[in-house]
Amino acid sequence: MPSENNNPWIEYDQRKKRCIWMLVGFFPAVLLVGGIAVTWFDTATPMMVCAAIWGVALIVTGRRFATWPCPRCGKEFSTKFGRSQAFFAKECLHCGLPKYGDHAA
Ligand SMILES: [Zn+2]
Repeated sequence: MPSENNNPWIEYDQRKKRCIWMLVGFFPAVLLVGGIAVTWFDTATPMMVCAAIWGVALIVTGRRFATWPCPRCGKEFSTKFGRSQAFFAKECLHCGLPKYGDHAA
């Protein structure tokens, strides 16, 4: 059992959480910025800028999660042939290592 300091699944969880927060936070952030901008400054431009920046950040975050390397084989854990199972991958699509499985076994 790997110690907590070199447990690769910690990074997997961090990437997953970031991805989920970016996904969940998209509409509230854009609507908040849009509401403030329209109410106080009578323009929707900041909302569109926020949506664009958040959208790019969401794509980058999602890509980082989708390409997280399997601790056993080093290939993308949840992506194979360009198709990603993202949150739903129960095992490595290349070597079959179960999610949160012991890669040293
Ligand atoms: Zn693997």
